[in-house]
Amino acid sequence: MIRILIVEDERPIARLIDWNLTDCGYECTQVHDGLAAADLIEANSYDLILLDVMLPGADGYELMDQIRPTGTPVIFITARAGVQDRVRGLRAGADDYLVKPFEVVELIARVESVLRRAGKAEEHYEIGDVRVEPRSMLVTKNGVPVTLTPKEYELLLLFVRNRNIALFRDTIYQRVWEAEFDGDSRTVDLHVQRLRKKLGWQKRLVAIYKVGYRLEDLK
Ligand code: CA
Repeated sequence: MIRILIVEDERPIARLIDWNLTDCGYECTQVHDGLAAADLIEANSYDLILLDVMLPGADGYELMDQIRPTGTPVIFITARAGVQDRVRGLRAGADDYLVKPFEVVELIARVESVLRRAGKAEEHYEIGDVRVEPRSMLVTKNGVPVTLTPKEYELLLLFVRNRNIALFRDTIYQRVWEAEFDGDSRTVDLHVQRLRKKLGWQKRLVAIYKVGYRLEDLK
């Protein structure tokens, strides 16, 4: 799970950020003064820090000096719309900044974009009620884990990464079984049938006559 530290002394704002990011599936910790934040940063590792500039104890710039060597991405939160603050924040090594008051959608977009740039975004796919998380190899349907064999999983990932694209049987075979296709389509067909059954994808995994299969995900 992605861990985010929220350093913000205005508690209603810290709470608002916490609620919204927790809703998005992030694990949040709030801290309301600079010295306590310094202790937390010292003792823990975070994937992202949201850092208010004006804080009791130690301010955002001082904390930035502590954070920079750790390489943790930082989004500065500034009350002032002044260009000075933003420039200083970015010079100090912040990855982005948010100017208060901000919209929740902007908060989430900036958090996602900084995490993505840092290579920490949790990549996952949602196809109807099925969710695939390649990092953890977790597949769920309506939130319930689905057990797949390694080949079924590889096949699923291939379809999911190539949604709405017709995949030839020989391509599927070569990619999943990492061997030359010998013209016998039973292995592929059998695994497709099992996936259909396990995921309730009788209609989504469409057979294309004389070609192969396509995962339909039309929004
Ligand atoms: Ca403040």
